[in-house]
Amino acid sequence: MNVTNSRNSKVSSSVDFDAPGKQHGHLTLPHSNNLSAWGTLRLPVCVLANGDGPTVALIAGSHGDEYEGPITLFNLADSLQLSKINGRIIILPALNAPALATATRLSPIDQCNMNRSFPGNPNGSITEQIADYVNTEIISRADIVIDLHAGGKTLDFTPLAAVHFLENKQQQLRAEEIMIAFGAPNSLRMRELDNRGMLDTIVEDQGKIFVTTELGGGGTATRESLQTAAIGCRNVLAHAGILDEEITLRSTRMLEMPEDNCFVMSPCNGLLELCVTLGESVYRGSAIARIIDTENTGQTPVEVNASRDGVLMARHFPGLIRSGDCLAVIADEVPR
Ligand code: ZN
Repeated sequence: MNVTNSRNSKVSSSVDFDAPGKQHGHLTLPHSNNLSAWGTLRLPVCVLANGDGPTVALIAGSHGDEYEGPITLFNLADSLQLSKINGRIIILPALNAPALATATRLSPIDQCNMNRSFPGNPNGSITEQIADYVNTEIISRADIVIDLHAGGKTLDFTPLAAVHFLENKQQQLRAEEIMIAFGAPNSLRMRELDNRGMLDTIVEDQGKIFVTTELGGGGTATRESLQTAAIGCRNVLAHAGILDEEITLRSTRMLEMPEDNCFVMSPCNGLLELCVTLGESVYRGSAIARIIDTENTGQTPVEVNASRDGVLMARHFPGLIRSGDCLAVIADEVPR
């Protein structure tokens, strides 16, 4: 069976999202290219449906250099048993499969950022076509959407689950309940530099529950970050009443990004000498990094100071930094 649903979309699915049972399959779209004249692109998908509980969409691999999400969701798709499900779980572990194959943030096909391509376009580039299909056929069916991210090759995070500040406070509180159930070491009320084109935004605009994560980074995954991701996903499913399993209780530190000055950008190029460990407290005006000139001795390094009191939530990962790169993110620690 291959069902093409979405208006003008050329994306088809080998699974029926509305049928009971456990199905493994693919979303497929035409991709004529130099290596395959009549080729197609295939994205793995798994659906479990049993009973009349709510629908959760679990998504990962939006950026191809972030690994906790894909590893966790491939494992979850294997291990979840239909007999323990009441509701529907749609798992997309490699949303930007071409980027995952090349270990790049952006798609190597059209250079698009998947998480800046929503709501997508059925007549657009490959990434826009995928975004359109996900929005039309999957987000439309979901009550809760979990989108697993990490820092990729260029950032590293103290592991966290996050929601956004929303105008609808009831919606925000419902999202926060799911975030707390996820049980990451940190839980964040988050601010975006630019939320246009994000999956987050289109899900929230539809009044649905959206929780994202930043589980680590540096272009790899650790035992700890994978454990956080695996426990978090199962906890969310159990909390929503979809998975018949005990929640694994975990303590979490509450963080907030109340202002744009949480983002600290690099003022120059050079070698990054970080003065603070990820997750540590920083104080306004104290040094968080020194940037060293790579071409001359005898130069005083440029000191970068904390823009506010808080916790070093994220850092630039590579040893070299350029002017304008995000060097750090500082969040406030707040009571629950
Ligand atoms: Zn990401």
